[in-house]
Amino acid sequence: MEFQLSDEQRHLRDEVRRFADEEIRPIATEHDVNESYPHEVMEKAAEMGLLAPHVPVEYGGVGYSALENAILTEELFAADPGIGLCVSSAGFGAEAIMGFGSEDQKERILPAVTAGDAIMGSAISEPQAGSDVTSVATRAEKDGDKWVINGSKMWITNGTVADYFVVVCETDPDIEDRYTGFSQILVEGDRDGLTTEKITGKLGIRASDTAELVFDDVRVPEENLIGQRGMGFLQLMEFFDETRTAVAAQGVGIARGAAERALAYAEEREQFGRSIADFQAIKHKLAEMHTDTEAARWLTYRSAWAVDNEPGDLTALASMAKEFASRVAVDVADEAVQIHGGAGFVNDHDVERFYRDAKITQIYEGTTEIQKNIVARELLDEGI
Ligand SMILES: Cc1cc2nc3c(=O)[nH]c(=O)nc-3n(C[C@H](O)[C@H](O)[C@H](O)COP(=O)(O)OP(=O)(O)OC[C@H]3O[C@@H](n4cnc5c(N)ncnc54)[C@H](O)[C@@H]3O)c2cc1C
Repeated sequence: MEFQLSDEQRHLRDEVRRFADEEIRPIATEHDVNESYPHEVMEKAAEMGLLAPHVPVEYGGVGYSALENAILTEELFAADPGIGLCVSSAGFGAEAIMGFGSEDQKERILPAVTAGDAIMGSAISEPQAGSDVTSVATRAEKDGDKWVINGSKMWITNGTVADYFVVVCETDPDIEDRYTGFSQILVEGDRDGLTTEKITGKLGIRASDTAELVFDDVRVPEENLIGQRGMGFLQLMEFFDETRTAVAAQGVGIARGAAERALAYAEEREQFGRSIADFQAIKHKLAEMHTDTEAARWLTYRSAWAVDNEPGDLTALASMAKEFASRVAVDVADEAVQIHGGAGFVNDHDVERFYRDAKITQIYEGTTEIQKNIVARELLDEGI
């Protein structure tokens, strides 16, 4: 067993940490307060190779492994989860293109995303279809050589800023099999009939753009189908191990960011004539926060390693990592506010934002309850 990062991985971690400290931290509060998308960071993130970095080199990416992606995701989220998500979601849906897309789709989209010239969104959820993806009702029907799409999508990250969406549509509603009636279709953001409305008032990750999409007779060429018709749901399942591991890394970043800020504050704040870090109650909190973060990191690394080395056999592990790291993020952010006392209750201190931001990691990419269902299903060998 190896418990060491390579020199390249350590270098990556240090470089992304420096970038996040210099470019993200100083503007985090402003984008949180204004609920504004940090366009100014994206160009620099592209120069650093941080946009869709898992895209292979021949399509403009860096070809990072899942482990390297976990390392850089932690750094981005430790600086600021909202802007961290903007950077790490620029290529949402790129897996589908990489895994199943045509050569034309790959050449048209992937280099543009990695260069920072285009943003992607992955549109699965709907007002009535969240945890149960098989209840997706957005309909794509064939009309000559076009797909005609009608329906709506909810909570779509990058919804009002994306140039391309990978949209899960029902294409074969009459099929008896529960899983093979869906296809993924590429929809350009400027297609006639597609309207997007930004969702404001989010609890956290407020720099990240979230929107509702409405498809009203949106017509796209038949070549926009991604891979094989009817395989959309199964294509999605292939990437959940990877994307859930990435959300676990987000949780690790949030926990570390909160734990570090709490440690610094505890050393500096004085009560009863001494630093609050002298009180055993605070010492124990700090010890637990850092221990939990370390445990979450290693479970996440283990899952990422499995994505890279044992694909196809890690569904329970990825769900364990996602569930555990997101729980640690929420708990550690909570304790970080507690250590700050009243100061943690206002946005003069980052921990107020981390407390709000942490919660999303227990909701998107499959809720905590769904992750536990998956782990139990795998333990009990109940099949899909
Ligand atoms: C900020 C944000 C960004 C998002 N980004 C995207 C995106 O880019 N693309 C996208 O497609 N979606 C996105 N989502 C949607 C997200 O994936 C869903 O919100 C999530 O899957 C849960 O679905 P739901 O909200 O419909 O909740 P529901 O499925 O209605 O769940 C409600 C509650 O019931 C529980 N529950 C449901 N089914 C079960 C069950 N079988 N067993 C036990 N408990 C259950 C859930 O765990 C939850 O506690 C985003 C959401 C948010 C808030």
